[in-house]
Amino acid sequence: MINNALELLKKYYGFESFRNGQEEVIHNILTHKDVLAIMPTGGGKSICYQIPAMMMEGTTIVISPLISLMKDQVDTLKQLNIPSAFINSSLSLSELRRIIHEAENNKYKLIYVAPERLENENFIELIKNIKISMIAVDEAHCVSQWGHDFRPSYLKIKNLRGSGQNLIISSFTATATPSVKEDIINLIGLKNHFEITTGFDRENLTFNVLRADKKLSYILKYVEENKNKQGIIYCLTRKATEEVCNKLVSSGFNAVKYHAGLSDMERNKNQDEFLYDNANIIVATNAFGMGIDKSDIRYVIHYNMPKNIESYYQEAGRAGRDGEPADCILLFSPSDIVMNNFLIENSGESLDKSKEYEKLREMINYCNTDKCLRKFVISYFDKSYDKENCNNCSNCLSDIESTDITVEAQKILSCIYRTGQRFGMNLVIDVLKGSNNAKIKSLNFNTLSTYGIMKEYSRETLNELISYLVSDGYINITGDKYPTLNILPSGFFTLKGKQKVIIKKVISKKTDKNHDKSA
Ligand code: ADP
Repeated sequence: MINNALELLKKYYGFESFRNGQEEVIHNILTHKDVLAIMPTGGGKSICYQIPAMMMEGTTIVISPLISLMKDQVDTLKQLNIPSAFINSSLSLSELRRIIHEAENNKYKLIYVAPERLENENFIELIKNIKISMIAVDEAHCVSQWGHDFRPSYLKIKNLRGSGQNLIISSFTATATPSVKEDIINLIGLKNHFEITTGFDRENLTFNVLRADKKLSYILKYVEENKNKQGIIYCLTRKATEEVCNKLVSSGFNAVKYHAGLSDMERNKNQDEFLYDNANIIVATNAFGMGIDKSDIRYVIHYNMPKNIESYYQEAGRAGRDGEPADCILLFSPSDIVMNNFLIENSGESLDKSKEYEKLREMINYCNTDKCLRKFVISYFDKSYDKENCNNCSNCLSDIESTDITVEAQKILSCIYRTGQRFGMNLVIDVLKGSNNAKIKSLNFNTLSTYGIMKEYSRETLNELISYLVSDGYINITGDKYPTLNILPSGFFTLKGKQKVIIKKVISKKTDKNHDKSA
């Protein structure tokens, strides 16, 4: 059976052998088992369902979250002579009728649909009337609130089991923290399934976190040094996307932009410019990239820290899909924490915000760690990862002095909390130092448990510590005339002992890449 699959791999795709995991997944689908395959971006998930779809009797329904990409995928399949179609809102009524008619006549091996289509009764009827070989769920993490692109319609997939046919469901994702995995299994309703994780390690990627004050200057220098290479620059907001792209274009670089505020036409045009190598750089929000099959991207720079490690790894993982070396660079500044907190706070009601804050905290920890970045990120997904330091990330290649100031931070935050978040820096320092001044006494602050709790510290040191907490997004200063210190979510996590505060200083860069830090 698997030999036939290999034949198809050669005949249709022109590849000589299967990649890690593909063969096992295909084999299990062909023996009629549900599957959960966790493979990194670029790992080759599509082939895992396309080949069995060709080999099984009937039609495979592929649930895929992005309309814009379905067309690309189906065009590619058509070029390979694999009968396929997509059904989504971009079709005219007559096209839709034609495709439904042909589907009823079992013309297609694969039909791609957006999850929202599962809310449409006509479509559910159609599924009942044709022979379905499999439901393949792409980007399966979208079913979970723990994933980074929650799509409520994914919850409808489970109902397809009730359509009377003995369906198998194969599900694919690059994201699988244990909670996402559990959600995929339960919410999609996998039964007695075969599960495979092919490992998240992408050895050709180099990870870097840089604390850059002047991010734009860094980017200009980097793209100048990597002029002929193709890269993505991700920004957190449309505004930043515009700014960075404009700066690159005015500096003579061939850059295009991509965000949800552009018209469909402009977005598609810019995407094509990049995909077909007319533009070297695409500056984009996270709206760009899901499912993009461009293998020679040599760098992914994050102009801002993303909201969680799942998003980061998926976006960064778009670099180097061809297996050749590629850079993943995250430019971190404390204002990114403030912005992400703001975005979570103002996100819709449907999101479980405490989960989002927790994931943001892990992302901040990634930016603050002095440990091997590769190890940090891979262990986040795979707790059993136990390889040595990579000796290739920005932490492994620098001597970093880290100072843990969590206890000091907790004392300061607690003092701000106990004084009601109504006062400025000077008064908070007075209380921490146990000052005798009249104001403190009149407010009864000399009775607080935090009164004098840091009396051995100089005012300058306390000032520095508080400024650090402000610049790193633990405390906010509000009010112009009487600036007051307020505690931000990261600060509350620190108070509860859930987030450490580490000051990190790069002392020197190691030049020898093979130098072992632990030696
Ligand atoms: P994913 O969906 O896992 O991100 P894709 O299915 O888009 O990845 O595949 C990524 C790239 O790898 C594509 O260009 C695809 O053609 C290529 N690829 C997939 N399987 C193989 C294989 N067995 N041998 C060589 N290249 C492959």
